[in-house]
Amino acid sequence: MDLLNTLVDKGLRRELPTREEALAVLATSDDELLDVVAAAGKVRRQWFGRRVKLNYLVNLKSGLCPEDCSYCSQRLGSKAEILKYTWLKPDEASKAAAAGVAGGAKRVCLVASGRGPTDRDVDRVSKTIEAIKGRHEDVEVCACLGLLSEGQADRLRSAGADAYNHNLNTSEATYGDITTTHTYADRVDTVRQAQAAGLSACSGLIAGMGESDADLVDVVFSLRDLDPDSVPVNFLIPMEGTPLAKEWHLTPQRCLRILAMVRFVCPDAEVRLAGGREVHLRSLQPLALHLVNSIFLGDYLTSEGQAGQTDLDMIADAGFEVEGSDTTTLPEHRVPSPDGGCGGHGGGCAPCGDSPGTADDTPAEAAAVTPPRSGAGAPKASAARTDLVAVRRRGAGTDVAPNA
Ligand code: SF4
Repeated sequence: MDLLNTLVDKGLRRELPTREEALAVLATSDDELLDVVAAAGKVRRQWFGRRVKLNYLVNLKSGLCPEDCSYCSQRLGSKAEILKYTWLKPDEASKAAAAGVAGGAKRVCLVASGRGPTDRDVDRVSKTIEAIKGRHEDVEVCACLGLLSEGQADRLRSAGADAYNHNLNTSEATYGDITTTHTYADRVDTVRQAQAAGLSACSGLIAGMGESDADLVDVVFSLRDLDPDSVPVNFLIPMEGTPLAKEWHLTPQRCLRILAMVRFVCPDAEVRLAGGREVHLRSLQPLALHLVNSIFLGDYLTSEGQAGQTDLDMIADAGFEVEGSDTTTLPEHRVPSPDGGCGGHGGGCAPCGDSPGTADDTPAEAAAVTPPRSGAGAPKASAARTDLVAVRRRGAGTDVAPNA
């Protein structure tokens, strides 16, 4: 396929595909699926070999959020029967993190529900970061606390945080359909604040919320412009008790096409397979390892993942290896230089690898090539697999041992 040869060539050169090419990946047929995976796999191996980075989530504060993100079981008015608890103490969080590290996690992701942290919350999280770093010197710590206010990113960085996560989630055009209590621009601003403070930015998306192929391409191109170091790709877990509980649009094949498209658009970024992999990829999860170079180990914030040992077995059986703490995840050209020059985020230069003439599509040009939603890759009905959705009842906030 000419399309795939072109995309591999561009991915190996870190060159941005066109919107038409990204849309064409989403529109490929099931007959072409393994060719798509093989092509994106070449790009993955060029920049990350066969390594898989493991990340471990610790939900520091669960539920009772005043925001109304419709995909989220912790939202205002959620009827989902999730665990609800206020801030874990630093030693509780550190203990939960230790389980992930013992399971092979290289990064611990400290997440708290809410619009954004107060300065007191930043103090609490700073103590937690110090407790975790005191126990595991080499572990990377990422904070995910919502919208940041002036100076908070710097304080988290000073406390030892390595990264900050804030997802764009969906396209700017559809953002208002999924959340009304904050804006897409608020989200972009927080990612930029994190980058300006020298934190490694982690920002991704959620697929399966009823978006079109054009929306998916829009959000991934916006992410490419923002240039986060890691791009988590979540597949909506339609939780009972949330507004999106009936949105079962994803098939395993569509998930693989989405991951391949993200890999082609962000060839040298850490593309992370995030929430929903067990529910939507199901037995095809190992194929996704040819596309992503990072996954979450064990459970998610409010739902349970497959057993940590099953994750490790899957990686080994598929011929991949868990990335050790002595290995730098990102390719050398993306590791920040001491002077903050190109390759990091401190220099304010354009992202490396953007090809002049391809990264410049105006919204009008982009709209002109947007196919109708009824295209071959458009979401089709998928059976609701509520049997695969389990509310988290172990780990942080419980007395039951964590899954790692
Ligand atoms: S995604 Fe975050 S901000 Fe939105 S409702 Fe959930 S916890 Fe609150």
